[in-house]
Amino acid sequence: MRGFDRVGMRWFNPVPERLRGGRQDETPADGKELASVTRHIFVTGGVVSSLGKGLTSASIGMLLEARGLRVKMQKLDPYINVDPGTMSPYQHGEVYVLDDGSETDLDLGHYERFTSTKLTRESNYTTGQIYLSVINKERRGEFLGKTVQVIPHITNEIKEMVKNLADSATDVVITEIGGTVGDIESLPFLEAIRQIPLEVGRENCMFIHLTLVPYLKAAGELKTKPTQHSVGILRQIGIQPDVLVCRTERALDVSDREKIALFCNVPLDAVIEERDKDFSIYEVPLSLQSNKIDDLVLKRFGMQAGPADLDDWHDLLHRLRNPEHEVSIALVGKYAEHRDAYKSIYEALDHGGIAHKTQVRVQPIKSEDIEREGAERLLAGFDGLIVPGGFGERGVEGKVEAITFARERRLPFLGICLGMQCAVIDVARKCAGLAGAHSTEFAKNTPHPVICLMDEQQGVVEKGGTMRLGAQPCVLGEGTRAAAAYGATQISERHRHRYEFNPKYRGQLEQAGLVIAGTSPDGSLVEIVELADHPWFVAVQFHPEFKSKPTAAHPLFAGLVAAAVERHAGSAWVTEA
Ligand code: GLN
Repeated sequence: MRGFDRVGMRWFNPVPERLRGGRQDETPADGKELASVTRHIFVTGGVVSSLGKGLTSASIGMLLEARGLRVKMQKLDPYINVDPGTMSPYQHGEVYVLDDGSETDLDLGHYERFTSTKLTRESNYTTGQIYLSVINKERRGEFLGKTVQVIPHITNEIKEMVKNLADSATDVVITEIGGTVGDIESLPFLEAIRQIPLEVGRENCMFIHLTLVPYLKAAGELKTKPTQHSVGILRQIGIQPDVLVCRTERALDVSDREKIALFCNVPLDAVIEERDKDFSIYEVPLSLQSNKIDDLVLKRFGMQAGPADLDDWHDLLHRLRNPEHEVSIALVGKYAEHRDAYKSIYEALDHGGIAHKTQVRVQPIKSEDIEREGAERLLAGFDGLIVPGGFGERGVEGKVEAITFARERRLPFLGICLGMQCAVIDVARKCAGLAGAHSTEFAKNTPHPVICLMDEQQGVVEKGGTMRLGAQPCVLGEGTRAAAAYGATQISERHRHRYEFNPKYRGQLEQAGLVIAGTSPDGSLVEIVELADHPWFVAVQFHPEFKSKPTAAHPLFAGLVAAAVERHAGSAWVTEA
């Protein structure tokens, strides 16, 4: 099917080639080229931060994929750090690492969990990165004597970063703008996305604005004014939103929607309610779909597509809603009370639960509390333990103590990155008789540096982007728990660390019972350790949580949950007897 695009006065194909079944490369009678157009969706947020723009963007991406479109996702962050890698998890939450080693915003985790889009360095830009690139160009003399300014040079750079994602294999690029409309620092991004429709055609762009419609108890009603104001700011900038996604605690009635539509200048069916989800974030795409957001997108772009294939998604929600087991897992970390710092770990534990129809209750425990009160007191009664990654000395002894407890009490345990390093320290001290064994990250003069700085890290002084980062191949030992869980002996996982298992201690630790279950292909770097004589004691130098999906749980998280279910059943039996 071919259509005539009246706005842009160009021939275009409203239906993606893949959905049309075969290439139509005939040239229209008037000789104009058939344009293979990539459409752009821009997602902005207003009124307050933390509205869930990332989740909404990911959900839209997921719904479009479910209808057969090829989607790319991107986030633009207004802060000046070049990437979040140097920020405290208290400030920013988890740093999400991609295959290519970029350290990115945690919203990219939602993108990967909800969609099959391939994320790269181009998927997350910050103001810092944009400026760095423009300043480097200026130093190279690329601006030919011009005064370098926010408009047009910074905005041009932003536009390039967005338009670079458009290609013939992509139907829609979804670009989420971090921050809140009205922030000074978001302005160059908003100005850039205002300009993009002038270059690629307004008909190929869609602005989706996420806003808050609060319920005022005293007035007993939902209030639309903050939304009107935030759309007002957008319109002053020159952006007329096409769709408003209204975050709200209570259902919007028709009169609320009519008011919003009228004052914000959008059609009534483009005012979409997105009510808070108490149960699971995985309900968000289905709720947006019931409000027909995917239809709005297709209509806006003049595309046709088949019905959404959401069977997997319905199945996972069914599993979440109807668990057959329940387990409690302790998460012992430095920032335990700060959920966002371990975002992907919480998600991956849920995925493990989905895989085994198990409700996973995760109890965060500060590792410093273990130091004060003891593992016995704080960990008794749990069905599993997870010790995540981390940096800095605070709370490390609490993590080691928690792992000792899990090893001795046969509590299923998964150690991740620093969690693996602490497991090695525990086994060294308690099983190999290496008193005072430690990581040189925390004890420079330890008599037994079982964890030490990697060779490639010696002499590295810059902090940003200098760790061992991104996907690395790993070879698993035959017959190990890891190999059984993965069902493979060659895997690839994402890393983010400077320290490593000290190969000098390998023999001694193996003799003490530690199984080296995975190494780099040349055997030089230890990536996975296990205990054979334990129900589930697996610790990995990489971050498996970044590759877990609700529809495809990571094998190590599924393995931990399975072992926890078994332990729970065993302990229930013991209690009953
Ligand atoms: N601090 C440790 C290292 O740099 C562990 C890092 C992590 O857990 N991500 O090696």
